Amino acid sequence: MTAEAQALVQAHLAKVVQDDSLSDEQRLAYRERIKALLRERDAVLVAHYYTDPEIQSLAEETGGCVSDSLEMARFGKEHPASTLIVAGVKFMGETAKILSPEKRVFMPTLEATCSLDIGCPEQEFSDFCDQHPDRTVVVYANTSAAVKARADWVVTSSIAVELIEHLDRNGEKILWAPDKHLGSYVRDKAGADVLCWDGACIVHEEFKAQGLLDLKKAYPDAAVLVHPESPASVVEIADVVGSTSQLIKAACDMENDTFIVATDKGIFYKMQQLAPEKTFLEAPTAGSGATCRSCAHCPWMAMNGLQNMLDVLESENGMGQEIFVDPTLAEKAMVPLNRMLDFGKSLKG
Ligand code: SF4
Repeated sequence: MTAEAQALVQAHLAKVVQDDSLSDEQRLAYRERIKALLRERDAVLVAHYYTDPEIQSLAEETGGCVSDSLEMARFGKEHPASTLIVAGVKFMGETAKILSPEKRVFMPTLEATCSLDIGCPEQEFSDFCDQHPDRTVVVYANTSAAVKARADWVVTSSIAVELIEHLDRNGEKILWAPDKHLGSYVRDKAGADVLCWDGACIVHEEFKAQGLLDLKKAYPDAAVLVHPESPASVVEIADVVGSTSQLIKAACDMENDTFIVATDKGIFYKMQQLAPEKTFLEAPTAGSGATCRSCAHCPWMAMNGLQNMLDVLESENGMGQEIFVDPTLAEKAMVPLNRMLDFGKSLKG
């Protein structure tokens, strides 16, 4: 990541406020009130695997969805509710709004963002694209609506390798943004010509290869599950590399009793729910070069709490936490987003 982008990320992190001060009684009362308001307002809760277990269980109990960003986009688009409450980070709310312009989309806080989004400003990215007019522009879902509007394709980690293989078969050269680790991973897997933007996820970049090897020595029978936003040295050690959904599937399908998991620890909620007899260990973030501000949990995902969700649902104007996307921009961004959804559907067969 450029020094400028790093400074922006650090400045934003310094402002992050998390909601962890509720008593058990308050939590229960808040949950019941949120459930009632979701019904009253014809709203459905769409949550990411990285949000806190409290939020994930609430989405499940209210007929919402807990999933990766591709499935969140699809669910929000297809669900009949007139209002979406998106618990995740801002690009997920924007994606929901672009795909469902007729719906109102709120988030517990619009301050919840992503280091990949911050590290890929529209103008710089557009200049980068202009310098490489011969390349097909593929951007990860973790980008602003403006960056998506500049792209030929949007992609999530669950279908990234397949998409790059597909484009490579068509003879296309790729410009990839913003995550350089995922970009290098798909380039190596697909053997394609991929030029990467210099962005990174502050959570996955913290995982340390040496710490992981040490933990593997202590648990020799454990399988190592790694998200491809992690550095190559960590990916190399993995038994399975994949998106959140693919890692959850591996945790269920593999015969191992123990797993070392290199992704946001919010995912442990779903893994433990689907494979209750298995043990899940966090991959280490400490060790040489550690600067851990995240420690395997995204500080922005953690901003989605009961308190701010309730505030948004109770207030007539959603406390100003409604997502709006400029319609012209949305129309442009919808093209690569729909390509992503159609491509994802074609893979399912
Ligand atoms: S975990 Fe990383 S990629 Fe995901 S939202 Fe947080 S900073 Fe962005």
